[in-house]
Amino acid sequence: MVSSDQLPKNYDFAKVEERWRSTWRDEDHYFDKNSKKPQFVIDTPPPYPTGNFHIGNALNWCYIDFFARYKRMKGFNVMFPQGWDCHGLPTEVKVEELNHITKNDVSREEFRRMCHELTEQNISLMRLTLRKMAFSTDWSNEYITMMPDYYGKTQLSFLRMLKSGYIYQSEHPVNYCIRCETAIAFAEVAYDDRETQLNYFDFSGVEIASTRPELLAACVAVAVHPADERYLYIKDTKMKVPLFGHEVPVVQDEAVDPAFGSGAVMICTFGDKQDVHWWKKHNLSLRKAIDRQGKMTAIAGRYEGMNTTDCRTAILADMKSHKILKRQENLAQRVGTCWRCKTPIEILSERQWFVKIKPGEIQKAAHQIKWYPEHMLLRMENWVEQMEWDWCISRQRIFATPIPVWFCKKCGEMVVPDERDLPVDPTLVPPKIPCPKCGSNVFTGEVDVLDTWMDSSISVLNVTGWDGKGTPPYFPAQIRPQGHDIIRTWAFYTILRSVALTGSKPWEEILINGMVLGEDGFKMSKSRGNIIVPEEILSKFGADALRQWAAMGAATGSDIMFNWNDVVAASRFQTKMWNIAKFVLIQLEKEGFDQNTPVTALADRWLLVHLSDTIQQVSTAMECYQFDTALKAIREFAWDSLADNYIELVKGRLYTGDASRKSALLVLHTAFDALCKMLAPFTPYFAEECYFHLNRGASVHKQPWVSFTYEDEAARYEGNQLAQVVAEVRKYKHDTGLALNAPLGKVTIYAAHTMNDEGDTGRTLNADVHWRTDAVKLERVITDIDFNRAVIGPAFRKQAQAFITAIQALPLQQLSDPPKTIMLEGSEVRIPENSFTPKFSYLEEGAKVDVITVGDVIVTIAKSA
Ligand SMILES: [Zn+2]
Ligand SMILES: [Zn+2]
Repeated sequence: MVSSDQLPKNYDFAKVEERWRSTWRDEDHYFDKNSKKPQFVIDTPPPYPTGNFHIGNALNWCYIDFFARYKRMKGFNVMFPQGWDCHGLPTEVKVEELNHITKNDVSREEFRRMCHELTEQNISLMRLTLRKMAFSTDWSNEYITMMPDYYGKTQLSFLRMLKSGYIYQSEHPVNYCIRCETAIAFAEVAYDDRETQLNYFDFSGVEIASTRPELLAACVAVAVHPADERYLYIKDTKMKVPLFGHEVPVVQDEAVDPAFGSGAVMICTFGDKQDVHWWKKHNLSLRKAIDRQGKMTAIAGRYEGMNTTDCRTAILADMKSHKILKRQENLAQRVGTCWRCKTPIEILSERQWFVKIKPGEIQKAAHQIKWYPEHMLLRMENWVEQMEWDWCISRQRIFATPIPVWFCKKCGEMVVPDERDLPVDPTLVPPKIPCPKCGSNVFTGEVDVLDTWMDSSISVLNVTGWDGKGTPPYFPAQIRPQGHDIIRTWAFYTILRSVALTGSKPWEEILINGMVLGEDGFKMSKSRGNIIVPEEILSKFGADALRQWAAMGAATGSDIMFNWNDVVAASRFQTKMWNIAKFVLIQLEKEGFDQNTPVTALADRWLLVHLSDTIQQVSTAMECYQFDTALKAIREFAWDSLADNYIELVKGRLYTGDASRKSALLVLHTAFDALCKMLAPFTPYFAEECYFHLNRGASVHKQPWVSFTYEDEAARYEGNQLAQVVAEVRKYKHDTGLALNAPLGKVTIYAAHTMNDEGDTGRTLNADVHWRTDAVKLERVITDIDFNRAVIGPAFRKQAQAFITAIQALPLQQLSDPPKTIMLEGSEVRIPENSFTPKFSYLEEGAKVDVITVGDVIVTIAKSA
């Protein structure tokens, strides 16, 4: 430990952060399975291992680390695990790019191996950023979803839900991305606004309007409103589809809008969700015109093999040449697109795996969870309310958890593995038993794989120790922290799966964080060039400044605009705190402090009251995850109460040998010790550095949360007056051109109570200070005259100076009610209005004083000559 006069002048974050990073031990953050303390298990989001821990992640993790550290100090056995959600398309695409291959150029195993390797490299990079940011991660509870021990659990959860009827296989229309060549869930459909054309054409004598003429081959009916008199004549008839010639029924449906287009619409399998709805309701046939690659199928006849765009062009051209295209109109349209690649989605009917959605039980569990901020629950409610289709969980990809199922080649029976044999890849190994139905040994392994949300939606089961046997030992977790952008996916799926697998809610609380916007207020994106990476902030200002930015940026749950000024302000706060620290440490080093010293001086009692208030405020804010409120209160206390007021007040006392010096030392130690503890969750490096020097090498991160309380209503009131008086008199010094340490003469303070300031006021103001409780006796006298030359000049011209001399010759006190005329060079002249103003001063006991009013307190200042 260096002695405090050897402390570096400036706080060097790079050195300090590096030093503590290499000192701290991972073990100190491990969840203790044998602990008697109450558990606090965090269902940390597993980020996608892109290799870059982005600023949005940083915000999310800062929140987590703030409360993880706080809860540890509050005596909880905290688990802050770190997961990695590995599977998925972006990695497949990256592997194809890096190796200049497509997934079909190598075997599935080889392709998977390449994805694995890239993911491991990316995880290593991201772990480094996590460590630099001082997150108190429990590395003994790290999980990686692509590893067998994790995806074995995903498979186990699949089998359990298959058995209980939550999971089923069926041919059903699903959202499908033809570029990614996979089914996707509704939650993965994004929406884009675009302009399209509405085409009016002749459909066996009826005019039909359609935005997707390429689906003509998939037309299965024409629908009209039952009350639309224009179309009564075609009721119960069949109509011939133009260009293709197949016949389709006419159906009547209330949902047809007679005012849209011609009022007659064609139903295709499938143009949109409405088509699916009608198709089911009217029990129509299925015509698949588009395949999984987005190519037209055989039923498209001469258009077979074309992609949808070419087919549309060709069909419109043919309609023109057959003279059935009547006209075209522009139409604004919202199109569902793939959230990964932005390709417009198709609705294809395919054999897929689904999870049943039971809205009632999800709503019930969602309501048993405490939401921070509360209004985020509404987003979940709205999402669940509008669910129409079950969750499609099968994907036609490679780098994902295999669906652990085989089908008997002979009789089609589905065979599942024994749970003890998980994980399995059914495309690589056969089942261990012959087909229970026909005894055959020839099987096909399911080639479809699971949606990555199937992996990540059991994160909470994994961290709470689920092994398939009943309720996991640490379930439910205490909290789920996550972004509001994945409420309808990760939060929704996790609740669904927890209810399906354990019968209850996954967590007690959920904490939602906002998104980080660029400095220009827009979502960060490469094309806008407004991306800020945490590494840049870390190298310029350090982790503690970045963490302060995260806390202060906005109320929890709100989006935060990134702003370098906030980071600079955070770093300035550290500089200020470091100066306070050095001052406190130097004082304490001289003679230490004594916990039993009686605290009597007003300033000392006042600071303790403020400290007690601040601790109360910060603790309350931490309990409900209001980090901005908490850090703001800490900063205000440190900067305003401690540095600007208290230290200025007691500096003089600390340099005297007075007995009351000991009281100030105890107060300084108490306040600074508490500040370190309150800052520990926010600025772990800085707080550790200060605390280490303050308490002979002890770690602030092993201390309990500060519990100091102090009540003294008189000190609160009188101390505020004292602080205000001193601030006002200092301002007076400044305004009258005096140096702050210049001697001021006699200062008399008239207040309702005598205050035991232990001489602090006098030393701070460098004045002879007297406190009095009697009423001030002031005499208001005229001591000078201000002449208005703009009035006197024109009125007296050459006699102006003579007029001034004559007025000055009058007795001063007569000027409060001046005469109307005056003798000037022998003649009586009128005194013009506004030609002068008397200047008043106050006399106290015969001496001229300046007077300042501070609330109920009157201060008189008799400057030394
Ligand atoms: Zn896509
Ligand atoms: Zn069989």
